[in-house]
Amino acid sequence: MPDLKSADPAWILSQPLSVLPGVGPKVQTRLQKLGLSSLEDAIYHLPYRYEDRRQLKPIRQLSDGSTEVFKGTVLASGESRTKRTSRRIYEVIVGDDSGTISLKWFHYRKNWLEKRLPIGQTAIFIGDVKRFGATREVHHPDAELIQGNDDMALLSRKDPVSFGRIVPVYPLTEGISQKQIRSIWFPLIRDYAHYLSTTTPDFIRKQYQLLDRQDAIRQIHWPDKQSNLYQLEQGRHPGRKSLVFDEFFYLEMGLALKRAGVQLQQGSRMPCEHRYTLPLSKMLPFKLTAAQRRVLGEIKDDMASPHPMNRLLQGDVGSGKTVVALMAALIAIENDFQVAVVAPTEILAEQHYRTFAPWLERLGLTCCLLQGSTSQAEKKNTYARITAGDINLVAGTHAVLQEGVEFQRLGLGIVDEQHRFGVRQRGILKTKGNNPDILVMTATPIPRTLSMTLYGDLSVSVIDELPPGRKTITTRIIHQRNRAQAHELIHAELKKGRQAYIVYPLVEESEKSDLQAATIAAQQLIETFPEHQIGLLHGQMKSAEKEAVMNDFRSGKIAVLVATTVIEVGVDVPNATLMVIEHADRFGLAQLHQLRGRVGRGAEQSYCILIPSEHYSEDAQKRLDVMIKTDDGFRIAEADLEIRGPGDFLGTRQAGLPDFRVASLTRDVSILEAARQAAFNYIEQTDHLTTPEARPVREELIKRWGSRLELANIG
Ligand code: ADP
Ligand code: MG
Repeated sequence: MPDLKSADPAWILSQPLSVLPGVGPKVQTRLQKLGLSSLEDAIYHLPYRYEDRRQLKPIRQLSDGSTEVFKGTVLASGESRTKRTSRRIYEVIVGDDSGTISLKWFHYRKNWLEKRLPIGQTAIFIGDVKRFGATREVHHPDAELIQGNDDMALLSRKDPVSFGRIVPVYPLTEGISQKQIRSIWFPLIRDYAHYLSTTTPDFIRKQYQLLDRQDAIRQIHWPDKQSNLYQLEQGRHPGRKSLVFDEFFYLEMGLALKRAGVQLQQGSRMPCEHRYTLPLSKMLPFKLTAAQRRVLGEIKDDMASPHPMNRLLQGDVGSGKTVVALMAALIAIENDFQVAVVAPTEILAEQHYRTFAPWLERLGLTCCLLQGSTSQAEKKNTYARITAGDINLVAGTHAVLQEGVEFQRLGLGIVDEQHRFGVRQRGILKTKGNNPDILVMTATPIPRTLSMTLYGDLSVSVIDELPPGRKTITTRIIHQRNRAQAHELIHAELKKGRQAYIVYPLVEESEKSDLQAATIAAQQLIETFPEHQIGLLHGQMKSAEKEAVMNDFRSGKIAVLVATTVIEVGVDVPNATLMVIEHADRFGLAQLHQLRGRVGRGAEQSYCILIPSEHYSEDAQKRLDVMIKTDDGFRIAEADLEIRGPGDFLGTRQAGLPDFRVASLTRDVSILEAARQAAFNYIEQTDHLTTPEARPVREELIKRWGSRLELANIG
């Protein structure tokens, strides 16, 4: 390594761990297994708990089951053999004024132990205390010898790594011990923490009482003697809080800039002209709810502004997002723009088409449906009409995003079911027009913590009210052995002229057997309910077949629809009042909620029956319990986040979220909010980080985010 004093800190921190004392090739490989290769990686490898070794406990007070530190003098020692297995044991009895305890070694070198711990030797010991009948024992304790009688001298030694302090406990991998990792990490932090740069502006650190990064790191690894152990263990120590704030601060600045970038772009002004929207609101068989009106107002403001809209429309299943989207579409059309409505599945795309088409036709407008299965000749014809501007609204799957599709004047893109679909599609839609407005609809309620970070670049509108007259869906768990009860319920609903869904999970590796299960179930139902028509819907059917089955279900010809999860999103058949979910334990909470949302769409009382597999996990039980307890999508999402953790909740990587080194989205909500506030203010104060004092912050931001944010206006 060249002269450290003159070297670039970033370069130093990127050095391999082998520059540290005690890290040879073997240890290096083992640390690699923990994902640690550079000094910086190691610095951010934080303790997950701590041991309080500040004080020595009297031997009598040592409690079994915990790791304890104590001082004792050797009173007796010797070798013996266990009675049954005749294994060698070396035993040392140590004592202090309060009592005695037995220390045992099962693997040892006798000479070494005898020399190290002769009778009369005093030492500090550390180990797990266990109780065997009346005696307490510590097996293989660590010992630190005391010369003379001055243990205070020991406790205030220069680099006490294991005693006389709060000691960190690190996540480990095989072949590395706590003692070893501590002895490596102590010099690591001592010698390298000061190369970390602190780029969070001083005034923000003062305002939020944050430590600079170097101190924060030192405090987390090797807390001061007077640190609050409780705070440390709860993750509320100022050091940790400071690092978490720092991570969120940069995340939120990135998002703020991304959003500002959108605002700086020029889009089209599309004020509401009432030419089609007014007649539509007169034709609708219902009045918009207050929430729908509020959200529509937000969308109207966005559309009327010269900047492109980037809005997320969030609303529980059945909250009435579609009619809001339809209104937005009409506003675009009033301004002589075209509209694209893109959905993740053919069934859903078609559903949208079916909802939009009749209204548009009554208003004298044209729309079409584009899917992968649309024939080539038909596609060619449709493409031409879209390019000529003859079509006002195109609904479809990703087929709409294909190269051949060229709009004459695309003004608004509506994307349904965001994260089932991907962020990329949003980007492609944007290229199909001159910065068209984008409205993303999602039925998956996203807890505030997550939506703030995930969709920080989108404005969010929430429909938090269901249309009037909705009854809550009655949800029950019925176990396999009581299956007959489920049949009775199906029977009762069918007798009232209602319809039912029966859903089977589709797990990729066992796709065939699930399909088989669904097919067999359909067969059995045909026998059980000979007077009703039973339909089967699954992913391996051709689109035309699927469409035919859905049509028959919509028209009421099919009474019971047995389906694999293809019906999961957006299907709207108000006469269906019963949802039976087979192997309900195999579904995630979000899916269960979505599926349940297929019923309860009309005025009738609806039911949801969850039939779990014979054996299922504790987490599955928790999910089912949540389903019984509430039908509030936001509460379900929050519970889901809790059970699964945020990474898994949405697939962190896929959603484009940076990985946090320290922060946790469930634990650190309040810090996230503070950091967001600080970040947005700072962006404004520094005119998007263009002032000279913002330079280091800007550099750090680019380093952290790289190209992930496509930060258009900085660099
Ligand atoms: P989602 O938000 O799940 O897409 P939809 O837009 O499909 O919900 O609406 C669900 C049902 O509620 C539809 O049948 C729709 O016609 C009806 N609906 C929407 N808004 C209202 C309203 N304000 N009053 C009564 N019914 C409504
Ligand atoms: Mg919908």
